[in-house]
Amino acid sequence: MITILNDNFNELNQFLHEKSFSKIFILVDENTHEYCLPVLLGNMETDLGFEILEIEAGEEMKNIQTANQLWEILTEMQADRKALVINLGGGVITDMGGFVASTYKRGIQFINIPTTLLSMCDASIGGKTGIDLMHYKNMVGTFAFPEQIFIYPKFLETLPFKELRSGFAEMLKHGLIADRAHWDQLIQIHKLDVEAVIPHIQTSMNIKQEVVEKDFHEKNIRKTLNFGHTIGHAVESLCLQQGNPILHGEAVAMGMICEAHLGYLENLISEEDSQRIIENIQRYYPYLDISDFKDDDITALLLNDKKNTDSKINFSLLSEIGKCTYDYQCSQKNILESLHFYRK
Ligand code: NAD
Ligand code: ZN
Repeated sequence: MITILNDNFNELNQFLHEKSFSKIFILVDENTHEYCLPVLLGNMETDLGFEILEIEAGEEMKNIQTANQLWEILTEMQADRKALVINLGGGVITDMGGFVASTYKRGIQFINIPTTLLSMCDASIGGKTGIDLMHYKNMVGTFAFPEQIFIYPKFLETLPFKELRSGFAEMLKHGLIADRAHWDQLIQIHKLDVEAVIPHIQTSMNIKQEVVEKDFHEKNIRKTLNFGHTIGHAVESLCLQQGNPILHGEAVAMGMICEAHLGYLENLISEEDSQRIIENIQRYYPYLDISDFKDDDITALLLNDKKNTDSKINFSLLSEIGKCTYDYQCSQKNILESLHFYRK
């Protein structure tokens, strides 16, 4: 269940009061420790003891070494099966904390309190937890639901603009794959800031939640959430390999531009809709210079995508604004053409 919190955090306090937990472990990174933890502790009312578990900020920490340290700390602090983990942070914290909690003693309870736009609208919802392995993202993980998700939109006030814009890409995606009205409202935003996005968070997270409820194990409709992510992930990985990491949402925005054009090349979507999508995404996201990337390197990464079966590249592509197909296989020629289109 997802609850939007008011300034008094009543619903969270009620939740903590009603359940009989033995102890609370709050997982933060250095930024959410500084900016979000004081707000949480200032509002949290409970007689239970709690411990703070802090990890360094950043995707590089989302690995088995960090998970191991957290399992060890939980053991040393004698966390029993009635302990509660509170994940207070962005997607790295909710992925990591969910993974550690869902595996420690075969699973203890956890809740997510997402603090980035991306984690509010996307990462904290849907029951996927995980860590990276070597340079492959989310290679090891579990399907595990948090007991509750509590959203406090004001946490966004301290979030750097680039992180806000990164999360906004997933909101645009939710409109594009499932809800034209949501997309239409989002593109009314001229100055992207916290005040402008807050009114749209609930709709965006509802879209993700509804899609996941219909197809938890990603056999069909959940695949539509991958729109923009096939090319997006490949570019995100290449940038990382070259030592110039970009934010996930920046890669997804670029991926959505290519894949909107790809849909047009495959005669799935009208030229008008595809152009409308591309022009609007370009209003928010600066051009990513991919001129150094070789077609072969991108193709190799596309073939490596977790979503593929039978060594075919599976795309989720739009048929119109608000409707998305999945398991669509495109011609190699059109895939490369969509990348050339972006470079131009
Ligand atoms: P993140 O957790 O790294 O947070 C981004 C940065 O913002 C970090 O430096 C963090 O310390 C900082 N931060 C967080 N909240 C803040 C606040 N309120 N004020 C100031 N700074 C703050 O990254 P993210 O973009 O939230 O999430 C990305 C991760 O989410 C990736 O690892 C991705 O794989 C994962 N993800 C998971 C799912 C899923 O379904 N499980 C879906 C999408 C993404
Ligand atoms: Zn994404």
